[in-house]
Amino acid sequence: MLATEEFARHAARLLVADDEDLVSAIEQENARQQNSLMLVASSSVTDPSVLACLATSSMNVTAEGYPGARYHAGCEAIDPIERLAVDRARALFGARYANVQPHSATTANYAVLSALLDPGDVVLGMRLNHGGHLTHGYSVAYSGTYFTAVNYGLDEHGRIDYEEVAALAEAHRPKLIVCGATAYPRTVDFARFRAIADSVGALLMADISHIAGLVAAGLHPSPVDHAHITTTCTHKQLAGPRGGIILSGRDADTVLPGTGRTIARTLDRAVFPFFQGAPVLPAIAAKARAFALAATDSYRATAQRILDDSAALAAELTALGHDVVTGGSDNHIVLLDLTRDGVSGIAAERALESIGIVVNKNRIPGDSRPATVTSGVRIGTNAVAQRGLGPDEMRVCAGIIHSVLTAMRPVGERDFTLDEFTAAGLRAEVEKLAAQFPLPRYLPGGRS
Ligand SMILES: *Cc1c(COP(=O)(O)O)cnc(C)c1O
Repeated sequence: MLATEEFARHAARLLVADDEDLVSAIEQENARQQNSLMLVASSSVTDPSVLACLATSSMNVTAEGYPGARYHAGCEAIDPIERLAVDRARALFGARYANVQPHSATTANYAVLSALLDPGDVVLGMRLNHGGHLTHGYSVAYSGTYFTAVNYGLDEHGRIDYEEVAALAEAHRPKLIVCGATAYPRTVDFARFRAIADSVGALLMADISHIAGLVAAGLHPSPVDHAHITTTCTHKQLAGPRGGIILSGRDADTVLPGTGRTIARTLDRAVFPFFQGAPVLPAIAAKARAFALAATDSYRATAQRILDDSAALAAELTALGHDVVTGGSDNHIVLLDLTRDGVSGIAAERALESIGIVVNKNRIPGDSRPATVTSGVRIGTNAVAQRGLGPDEMRVCAGIIHSVLTAMRPVGERDFTLDEFTAAGLRAEVEKLAAQFPLPRYLPGGRS
């Protein structure tokens, strides 16, 4: 047995022998995941070999700086870990530059914003309640308080309004335009964003946190050579550890006006020393492992199943009389407008969770309800597709969602009642479906 394998068993044995309360909480979460259908669009099922990287001795190393140029001694043996992660990230996304140190996509985005902009500079990003992200220029977040945020949104069909993007860019002359979204079910036209950025001399950042797996698999157009900078988290569709990365393609060696520095050099300094301290090396090892898995044929097949699943879910929900925003999906996200169903997003989320289907409330274009209530739910197919559920199972799932939405009775804006007999039947259906697709050995008897 290799030391790594022996260590993992030893470590787990120590934990189980010594911390009953914590282990019991961990096992309860394992069971919850096994017995429910995780349709939260940001979730994935992490491969056990990725998780194994997190429990390794590189946790003990402080390594400020980059491979070959650390500020601490004792980093020689961990440098190859980070080099592997960088090389694999570049190969996976066809990028010239990769930084694998950001602790999350939020940190990655803020490192970029802080490095490229001065306080008060204009950043043009997607409106939060149209599917944008807190880090893209929003008033309650750092992105919209230290910088001047201007927001574009969707047209009446629920598609990005590129004419509005161009008009706002022309009027406000942003230094940075951000594209990418957190609740957008359609393809993003990165080339069009770049043309708009070039027309006003702005830099373009693409945040592909939600669609990085489809981009890696070649199932969504890549922004890497369109945007000056691309960011993503590694824990959503990529199914890696919690963390972020920053990429740059053909503009990596472009010199930024007024600084004399290339974009690549600027990004390195932006992450360390400007925004972060020492990197989390076990997370970087886990990223390297996730990138290797994402380059396999098996991952590509799963990515295709993610698309097939969302298409089947959208079609079946539509056939059952529900309103799917934009009429379908080009990615893993199905956005359901519940206005005609007469229930709020939060009430639907709670009713679905009560029978084991986990989705999240989400505002829909033109939503009059606040973000804590909403008139829609966002459904995502990453985790179920990774578990092996295919289009047939998605049609069954759509039927269960339909049963909940028609049987539930709203109480006020946020609450609901659901007949206990109906609920028990639906819960049993969900558990039966979930049991056919075991998670990878988080529980005894799981898939290896
Ligand atoms: C989830 C998300 C993020 C934030 O990711 P964290 O790693 O959780 O900070 C950033 N941008 C977009 C578009 C996201 O969807």
